[in-house]
Amino acid sequence: MEARKIFLSEDEMPRQWYNILADIKMNPPLGPDGNPVTPDKLAPVFPMNLIEQEVSTERWIDIPEPVLDILSMWRPSPLVRALSLEKALDTPAKIYFKNESVSPPGSHKPNTAVAQAYYNKEFGIEKITTETGAGQWGSALSFACAQFGIECKVYMVRISFDQKPYRKSMMSVWGGKCVASPSTETKAGRDVLEKDPNTPGSLGIAISEAIEAAVTDETGKTRYSLGSVLNHVMLHQTIVGLEAKKQFEKIGEYPDIIIGCAGGGSNFAGIAFPFVHDKINGKEIEIYPVEPAACPTLTKAPFVYDHGDTAKYTPLLPMYSLGHAFVPPPFHAGGLRYHGMAPTVSQLAVEGIITPKAVTQLDAYKAGMILARSEGIIPAPETNHALACVVDEARKAKEEGREKVILFNWSGHGLLDLMAYDKYFSNELKDFELTEEEMLESEKVFENYPKPELIKSR
Ligand SMILES: *Cc1c(COP(=O)(O)O)cnc(C)c1O
Repeated sequence: MEARKIFLSEDEMPRQWYNILADIKMNPPLGPDGNPVTPDKLAPVFPMNLIEQEVSTERWIDIPEPVLDILSMWRPSPLVRALSLEKALDTPAKIYFKNESVSPPGSHKPNTAVAQAYYNKEFGIEKITTETGAGQWGSALSFACAQFGIECKVYMVRISFDQKPYRKSMMSVWGGKCVASPSTETKAGRDVLEKDPNTPGSLGIAISEAIEAAVTDETGKTRYSLGSVLNHVMLHQTIVGLEAKKQFEKIGEYPDIIIGCAGGGSNFAGIAFPFVHDKINGKEIEIYPVEPAACPTLTKAPFVYDHGDTAKYTPLLPMYSLGHAFVPPPFHAGGLRYHGMAPTVSQLAVEGIITPKAVTQLDAYKAGMILARSEGIIPAPETNHALACVVDEARKAKEEGREKVILFNWSGHGLLDLMAYDKYFSNELKDFELTEEEMLESEKVFENYPKPELIKSR
């Protein structure tokens, strides 16, 4: 019997996160005056300890002991050899995945939620506001806040609020409070509802609401938290790839190809960045972020300065963007319905260090079925996008007769997405293709913004 799982003991958990800002150069975020944002400007939004982490260029950052302690409830996550998938595809490729579905909320998201709740608590914060798309982030942050006795308020994108009632229930179980976004509770929400009362909502709108709720809170003890995109979120997720590296070392193996789905970029960054470090230092690895064809940020949008949210509360971030007012079509992978992309992931794409791919919703679900029926775990719809690329690469390896080693991130399970699977079975899911005109229209919002430089880090 070949080994399916490569374990690490709790003692072998990485004790430091890897900070990619030590290895790449970036355009700075810009404030309303067009100048680089200084940390004090962000102080009403985030606690200062996280702001310091956001701008740090130290390569290795210690993971605080209380954070490790809570992560060890489910970490280190197993590195799994997908033997049944290899058999199903009859491929010579060796396929491995990090199983991030084993966390209590069922995804990679608590890796940063726990760290963020910890730093907020350390800073004396009593309440955190946030947005959520499919509900994965809202439930992860509710779970993390419960661990530290912090209040959690979640603005959930309307379409998911209606489609995924049980994510709301999870938030309630962990003590989080969830409302549909756009809501009437904020100016940002009311403005959108006035123009379009039937809007499905978007992450961009929900982020605006959560930021507004944090900065207008009169206690001074409320801050905002973002589940993806920002540098410190990518940092916290690197524990995934760092564990994978140690696990590969144990079996004397190293990946040729790394794959992760990309919404805001965090689970992709988590598995890929520690290997990007090796690639920058000469290793040959193909690294693929995979996004939905209906929200094609890295593959079709331009690299620009744009806001991270619809109401333009965030600084201008250097990233690939479809425009901050873009409302993605209502495809079933809420976590991938974001108009922008993490600046760090964007910079790596600009430099050609990673190679973005896009897949359609139906191809994603088709691949998800292959994985569910071979490896058993029912994948999150977001994960399905990575899986379509995995299946593709495994088939290519077969055609070429090459024993490639593929590593991908199983970012979460789909046990609360079964309604979407039912729709897939009854042929109610369809593909959305954005037209050139639609994209040009949504991209008008940043026409007059400053343009980022095309920096080469080396
Ligand atoms: C949120 C989510 C994603 C997308 O977010 P990233 O920041 O791009 O990782 C992907 N998969 C799952 C399961 C998610 O919950």
